[in-house]
Amino acid sequence: MVRILDERRQQVYRKGQGSFNMTCEKKSLAGAVSQRACVFCGSRVVLYPIADALHLVHGPIGCAAYTWDIRGALSSGPQLHRLSFSTDLREMDVIQGGEKKLYNSLVELIDEYQPKAAFVYATCIVGLIGDDVDAICRKVSSEKNITVLPVHSEGFCGSKKEGYRAACDALYKLVGTAPADGVSRHSINIMGDFNLAGEIWLIREYYNRMGVEVVANITGDGRVADIRRMHAASLNVVQCSGSIIHLARKLEEKYGRPYIRVSYFGIEDMAKALYDVAEFFDDPVMMEKAEQIVRSEVAAIMPEIRRYRKDLVGRKAAVYVGGAFKAFSLVRALRLLGMRTVLVGSQTGNQDDYRQLRDMCDAGTIIVDDSNPLELCGFLKEKGCDIFIGGVKERPIAYKLGLGFCDHNHERKQALAGFTGMLNFAREVYATVTSPVWQFVRRPQPAQENKK
Ligand code: SF4
Repeated sequence: MVRILDERRQQVYRKGQGSFNMTCEKKSLAGAVSQRACVFCGSRVVLYPIADALHLVHGPIGCAAYTWDIRGALSSGPQLHRLSFSTDLREMDVIQGGEKKLYNSLVELIDEYQPKAAFVYATCIVGLIGDDVDAICRKVSSEKNITVLPVHSEGFCGSKKEGYRAACDALYKLVGTAPADGVSRHSINIMGDFNLAGEIWLIREYYNRMGVEVVANITGDGRVADIRRMHAASLNVVQCSGSIIHLARKLEEKYGRPYIRVSYFGIEDMAKALYDVAEFFDDPVMMEKAEQIVRSEVAAIMPEIRRYRKDLVGRKAAVYVGGAFKAFSLVRALRLLGMRTVLVGSQTGNQDDYRQLRDMCDAGTIIVDDSNPLELCGFLKEKGCDIFIGGVKERPIAYKLGLGFCDHNHERKQALAGFTGMLNFAREVYATVTSPVWQFVRRPQPAQENKK
């Protein structure tokens, strides 16, 4: 039997068993060892890929170490984002305050690196001792004539989701601070892709082939100058909506620029993303180009995908990711490979997300919100999964149980978005599921009911 804490029972649903009434969007249960990250981490993952900005973590060195190089976040130019600066607060700073240290660090770093803007992240301890981060940022900003933005991401103030919001609030202060002349009517911002393994370059290329101008990537391979003028784009195309939707809504409110939600994972969702943009611009020529792209890209990858599918049909997959939107695409992509998703969950999904997952999945699938390692281990054993798809915190769970694993989060080095990404995903899934190494480990047997 899987041990689920009483207070969490409503956050787990088995399709086909009882009425659907999942609880979600609540604080993690104390002591449950949630897989969720803190507020600071949430803001770091969103802002980190802005490559020509200075990122200074105001806090003890552990916070900076925790998020050091947190995403691959490739850059086609500057690499400043990859240096994780910290004010390294210690006991004496806690007693006497860290404002002086923050001021000196900012001045020194700005002089040394000449960034286009600076982000200062407030961590737990800063919230506790009450440093006036805003005042220091304002002071340095006027002295050095550069935008210095405080990010209110004190770790204890919520979960990763509040961190996304804090990052969006900081980004919003940059938007509209540069003139937006010469932007085409057929223009978009790509929001919510972080260019972990070069995906944003693939996606940009598809849109360019359709005749669409991309004003800003938010935030993969991001640049401060692009963010300043992103309000000029006609449409905001939002992926990973949990992380960036707050900014898209603000842009709609202030500048009247609408947004659509898309996903670039899997053939169906990638194609839909292109069609939705062409449909928005109501341009038959653009739609024709989108169809051509889909036709040629799908034709190029399907023969190899079909070969992998032969060995994957009927295998069982488990998915646990940050935002539920990605889970939808993964369920569809796994289905294309002939696989069944028997466990699916997310850190930050809402009622609508889980309802949609319920509708998509087969009977018996476990849907879980804000899970923890103990529960996940239990579910994986019960279902007899062949592969676990997740991020850095799910990897050890999979390997300890002797299951295949595919990193679909920060640490991957393979592009998994776009049509090329679907082929890479199929290759990875095939390689890990059929790896000969599994014959040397004793894998937990599925619960009796699942063998039938
Ligand atoms: S901000 Fe707080 S919770 Fe987050 S890493 Fe730092 S100390 Fe830990």
